[in-house]
Amino acid sequence: MEQVSLATKTPSNVITCKAAVAWTANAPLSIEEVQVDPPKAGEVRIKITSAGICGTDNHILEGKNKVPLPAILGHEGAGIVESVGQGVTTLKPGDKVLMLPLPECRECVYCLHPKGNFCKKENILSPTGLMLDGTSRFTCRGKKIYHLYGTSTFTEYTVADEIALAKIDDAAPMDKVCVLGCEVPTGFGAVFNTAQVTPGSTCVVFGLGGIGSAIVMACKASGASRIIGVDINEQKFPRARALGVTDCLNPNKLKKPVQEVVMEMTGIGADFAFEAIGLIETMVAALKSCVMSYGVCVIIGVAPSGSQLSFDPAELLPGRTLKSSVMGGYKTRDGIPKLVTDYLQKKINTDVLITHKLPFEKVNEAFKLLREGNWLENQGGNP
Ligand code: NAD
Ligand code: ZN
Repeated sequence: MEQVSLATKTPSNVITCKAAVAWTANAPLSIEEVQVDPPKAGEVRIKITSAGICGTDNHILEGKNKVPLPAILGHEGAGIVESVGQGVTTLKPGDKVLMLPLPECRECVYCLHPKGNFCKKENILSPTGLMLDGTSRFTCRGKKIYHLYGTSTFTEYTVADEIALAKIDDAAPMDKVCVLGCEVPTGFGAVFNTAQVTPGSTCVVFGLGGIGSAIVMACKASGASRIIGVDINEQKFPRARALGVTDCLNPNKLKKPVQEVVMEMTGIGADFAFEAIGLIETMVAALKSCVMSYGVCVIIGVAPSGSQLSFDPAELLPGRTLKSSVMGGYKTRDGIPKLVTDYLQKKINTDVLITHKLPFEKVNEAFKLLREGNWLENQGGNP
């Protein structure tokens, strides 16, 4: 009886579509048929047109960062509004949007503060995997499936809260601006907002993946005169050089700890150091690589759940600053549409950050490519 009454209430509103479900960590995603409920009050249902893979999705899949499972992962996505729930005023069907893993409610203490962006409405530090009302909109094989950071983009349709969506220009090419949903603001903002890199400065960037590459671009745009790139995968070096890295270091091939090599190369250390890997060791190495008296170290990488950062506080005493930011410190609903406008006006060119385009069904292959960093053969290609 219960099932019959449910079925007659909302049959035309539930969308059945394909999604990549993470049933457990350390296993491939499974392409499944899922049911996506209609949006409730304050929510929006979106047809996802493009999604990007971020190092954070990979950490989750490898079991390093804990989120409620089973879930539909993915938090960098572009899509088109399919329908809106009651009370939604800023979006309508047909609008183009970017999904926001960090929302902007414009009401909480952090959103209202000129410097804050860590909106209290979605706590990405202890994710619930649920919508703001505490329930899920996804079902698969009769089981409830969790959301990821209020986004979930590895699916044909998803539901998000209105405050977690950035309305973008109708002219935006979705497959290109998708990276402006996480990778670009995280990297650019770490440089422009958090570190505030100055012209003529020396920067060191640990990790030359997606985020690290966006950091390099922004350091170059800020007028840094020397940019040292650090990565254990030398396949990343040619692109890093093309983006502005002046010196490449592979820590596995050095005879000394990388921070000592950076000290020797620069005499006193880098003015600005960035960690875009997500490992405790490289976070400490980045800190020790910056100038003792006034260097600024920005940690962007997300370390495994429960890890502790440990170093002698005397590293900070002479005047070093250790900072961090989420989504580059941008107030997301305000800042990200502006980045899209900058892209459309050709003030920024982020196309170089897109290494491969694969059909949705090949999402596991895309993770493999991210892990192997196997880019060069396919630069500019569209396999
Ligand atoms: P990625 O996998 O594209 O890049 C990571 C890079 O680090 C790779 O090039 C890899 O070869 C390199 N690397 C791995 N181990 C290394 C080591 N020991 N020494 C030197 N290099 C090493 O990942 P990404 O998408 O660029 O994400 C980077 C980090 O940023 C992740 O930890 C991710 O969780 C985090 N992140 C943070 C935010 C934020 O808002 N703060 C947002 C998105 C992602
Ligand atoms: Zn808020």
